[in-house]
Amino acid sequence: MGVLLQWMLSDGSKKRKHSVNTAVIVINSVYSNDCLDFFNQKHMSAFSNAMQQLDSAAKKLGLDAVVVKKLKEPNYVHEFEIPMAMDDGSQKTFKGYRVQCSNARGPYKGGIRFHSQVDLDEVSALAFWMAIKTAVVNIPMGGGKGGVSINPKELSQSELEKLSRGWVQKMAQHIGPNIDVPAPDVNTNPQIMDWMVDEYEKITGDTTRATFTGKSLEHGGSEGRGTATGQGGFYVLEELVRALGMHTDGTTVVIQGFGNAGYHFGVLARVAGYRIVGVSDSKGGIYDPNGLDPEAVMKTKQEKGSVINYESGIKLTNKEILEQECDVLVPAALENQITAENATNIKAKIVLELANGPTTPEADVILWSKKIYVAPDVLTNAGGVTVSYFEWDQNLKNEHWSESEVFAKLEPIMKDAFKAVWDAHKQHTVDLRTAALMVAVQRIVDAMK
Ligand code: GLU
Repeated sequence: MGVLLQWMLSDGSKKRKHSVNTAVIVINSVYSNDCLDFFNQKHMSAFSNAMQQLDSAAKKLGLDAVVVKKLKEPNYVHEFEIPMAMDDGSQKTFKGYRVQCSNARGPYKGGIRFHSQVDLDEVSALAFWMAIKTAVVNIPMGGGKGGVSINPKELSQSELEKLSRGWVQKMAQHIGPNIDVPAPDVNTNPQIMDWMVDEYEKITGDTTRATFTGKSLEHGGSEGRGTATGQGGFYVLEELVRALGMHTDGTTVVIQGFGNAGYHFGVLARVAGYRIVGVSDSKGGIYDPNGLDPEAVMKTKQEKGSVINYESGIKLTNKEILEQECDVLVPAALENQITAENATNIKAKIVLELANGPTTPEADVILWSKKIYVAPDVLTNAGGVTVSYFEWDQNLKNEHWSESEVFAKLEPIMKDAFKAVWDAHKQHTVDLRTAALMVAVQRIVDAMK
């Protein structure tokens, strides 16, 4: 599989001049599936998956080819080196990125990911999905994404801080409250956002703190931001379960990926009466048809390093956990987990995507042919960016809302978004992802006009 992309590149030179040049990047991916960790399926191009999704929606909407081309090209791609002095005195350089996909509906918005898998293909796909996501929930923001290709677990705290500040030094002139508002993503957190906003303030003098969201409460963060992605996903589940005439009580749930979003979602679902029968993290998973207590499993993960050390349940790989008996399967880890190879083995009635891009277009077709409903990432995990938007708004107005105020504002946004997607699904007889893309793309195109 190979993808040819043509970008406008803005350089990250020390002169801080916004020089723009054109480059052609070829991403080639030849692979052997056997040698890959299931969480790290780099052989599939996330960007090409995203573009296939766009093509399906654009076809249904009857969009002009020129408009589709415009939607496919990010406005700016920033690729830069972050030089760093390591604790042992050595010098290293890490590759940083920010893709600013679309600002037709508002400032670019989206997280920064620290992961060894980060590359231009992945960041570009994630930036596109952010533009779609903010449009699905109808908040006045665009889409962007950033990252650094690094395994942050190999860094000390002081190295992590230097890296975070280094990213901002390279990007400071290209971001800002009304330009581009980054946030946390995989392996980044409120502490990292605090360092970043501090560095931004030092460089620019801006004291609004509205250039980054997902900050700690002490540094201008919003109540509810930490649990927002899980909370938003839970609202979507409740709406979908109701729309499909299913019941809450005893409905079984498997969660692949037990990070912030997966964990908070699991706690909410269990309280509401769902039975969590399986969870996994990067080391593997556990499955117990009698039900698991997410809080107890999290305690084990924190104390013993992984959910696999939990006392009950059978141990499974991340591949196996996806194929277990359950009503709701929640991929909450990384991209490309449900593929043409395993989609036929999925037994769930609902796939609720808390991760970005966990299902490939080929798998989507298989799941839909089996009448499995996929609640797409761009709807299901949009609670995070919605509360980020609330945080930005609070910072700009110098306000601080209570958690109940935040969730009282989040709930109708998520429910309206679900309704728009569900209505489009019914009206056009398409799966929920195509419906979500249709709703979002139409809104972006209207704004572009
Ligand atoms: N990283 C999150 C996402 O993928 C949140 C982005 C944000 O808050 O801007 O949606």
